[in-house]
Amino acid sequence: MRVIKVGNCRVEAAYCNLRCPYCTHLEMKSTDMNVDEIVSELDGCETVYIGGAEPTIHRDLKDLVEKLAEKGVKVTLKTSGFNPKAVEEVLSFVNMVVLEIKGDFDDLKKLSILIGLNEERTKKYLENFFKTLEAVRKSGKKIRIWARMIENYLDAETLERVMSRIGKVDEVLVYQYLSKPEWDKKVEYLSPPSFEEVVKAGKVAKKFADKVIVVAGGRRFEID
Ligand code: SF4
Repeated sequence: MRVIKVGNCRVEAAYCNLRCPYCTHLEMKSTDMNVDEIVSELDGCETVYIGGAEPTIHRDLKDLVEKLAEKGVKVTLKTSGFNPKAVEEVLSFVNMVVLEIKGDFDDLKKLSILIGLNEERTKKYLENFFKTLEAVRKSGKKIRIWARMIENYLDAETLERVMSRIGKVDEVLVYQYLSKPEWDKKVEYLSPPSFEEVVKAGKVAKKFADKVIVVAGGRRFEID
């Protein structure tokens, strides 16, 4: 598997099939590691988070999660949802799926800007996102929705509409764009919403999940 980093009970896979303009991972250096090397680096971990860029585009993802599951490791898999077949293949070995939502599902133009694909591919991305969501739901595995709040693209009102289409999930993580330099980079035409707007979005998310985590203003906290 091509990886950016393995360690601290995390795997950051390289490469992605989306082209989000704020992505920090697309430009990062990566290296080849075989599955046994990765598993050995993760020795002693009770839970492992596999994210990155996009883990589901790697053919040996199944082998990796299978080997981790054999060792009793609980795996959390983060994905954009663009690759439902690959997610379905590994579902029996994972504990939780983190699905990132990129923007307004009802505004293809804005959504296509946020994922860096043309509108045709953006339609396909949406279709696949819902196929992935349905597959994870059917499997009974935990679902966390990961929402990056960006002014004029994803605010509390938009999040409510998006979450109404997604329905109830286990957890939502509401993240204020640019809160963490390692998670995204500054893009000229994108700005973070105010802290208050992110907290408002967190309260909206609470209608759809018992656990809502907010990462904003240099803090990480749960909404009561
Ligand atoms: S932000 Fe995530 S989904 Fe977007 S290009 Fe980067 S790794 Fe892919």
